Amino acid sequence: MNIVSDRIKNMAESATLAMAAKAREYKAKGINVISLSLGEPDFKTPQHIQDGAKKAIDEGKYFAYPPVNGYLDLREAIAEKFKKENGLNYTPDQIVVSNGAKQSIANIFQAIINEGDEVVVFSPFWVSYSALIELAGGVPVLVKGGIENDFKVTAEQFEAAITSKTKAMIFSSPCNPTGSVFTKPELEAIAKVVLKHENLVVVSDEIYEHINYTGAHASIGALPGMLERTATVNGMAKGFAMTGWRVGYIGAPTWLAKACNKIQGQFTSANCSIAQRAALTALTSDLEPTRQMTKEYLRRRNLVKELLDQIPGFKTNMPQGAFYFFPDVSAYFGKSDGTTTVKDADDLAMYILENAHVSVVTGGAFGDPDCIRLSYAASEEELREAISRMKTTLAKLQ
Ligand code: GLU
Repeated sequence: MNIVSDRIKNMAESATLAMAAKAREYKAKGINVISLSLGEPDFKTPQHIQDGAKKAIDEGKYFAYPPVNGYLDLREAIAEKFKKENGLNYTPDQIVVSNGAKQSIANIFQAIINEGDEVVVFSPFWVSYSALIELAGGVPVLVKGGIENDFKVTAEQFEAAITSKTKAMIFSSPCNPTGSVFTKPELEAIAKVVLKHENLVVVSDEIYEHINYTGAHASIGALPGMLERTATVNGMAKGFAMTGWRVGYIGAPTWLAKACNKIQGQFTSANCSIAQRAALTALTSDLEPTRQMTKEYLRRRNLVKELLDQIPGFKTNMPQGAFYFFPDVSAYFGKSDGTTTVKDADDLAMYILENAHVSVVTGGAFGDPDCIRLSYAASEEELREAISRMKTTLAKLQ
């Protein structure tokens, strides 16, 4: 029997997680796969954050259901962080803590989308945006930024995509998968378009905020008139090496925060109590460990750029944040090693996995089928070895 709903049958599987699972399968067979598919810090959660969680367990006060939207002191700390670091004045009532930024985004789309509503997605985009929009009954409208513009969508392109059905737009900066960072003037131009349309909400995914090499993260919600129009999504996973703890959060207009709270109350209730205490420790401590990790990512970004530039046919931008490269690999399409012909980026990602034993993700899942994504949140040794294997393997395609 298979009575899976059409909704789930038609939903795309998460390409990042699927590729990570494939890499695990190969590893289980004893194949030495280097995994550059999942965007996951290779650092451990800093010790003081681990200690915060241990202390919470020992205190014995955090074993019951927390409030659905998160402990008040955590929401106060998040409100304080938003104010101090981002110039965003959300009250603790406007904060909802969730099971990772992914749930935060899912909540938002469930909260605002009616059947057939459109959401403009700046593309290349993170794989789950379109699936979560569709799951809520919406239609993702992809607007593409090309490599020649550092993969960034312009305000003019955005404006041209807006129709009477547009409910929201979503983008990430620093961007997963391209590493692009929107400057304040670019965000101002986008905000100007938003403010022309009365019922349009911005979903600003800022999960890579701390991994920004420009030294100037800008939040669109902090621009004049934008606080009431923006849901700011952030979380602990990337900046604090806390992917497994699953703590994401939003700051949003009260009506939207309330709606997200309502959905979460039916779906999952609050996020894990101990993880919330760990997040509180992280947000109320010095950011030095985060700065150190970012410094290391920057060193790797420079190394990987140099190494990728030595692979014939790879075209890359210079990522200004996050920890991904998104090379255009279309030069290899149609080439063959005599046995296998590579038609597209899906084929190339599989070819690299099977022959170089390196896992990367096809760009098609991120809205650009000319590209592949690789994460450089891996050790220098692994990165050197992985790129050297890719270079040797790709040279066989003629
Ligand atoms: N955000 C990470 C990535 O893009 C984690 C995987 C996921 O949840 O998609 O690889």
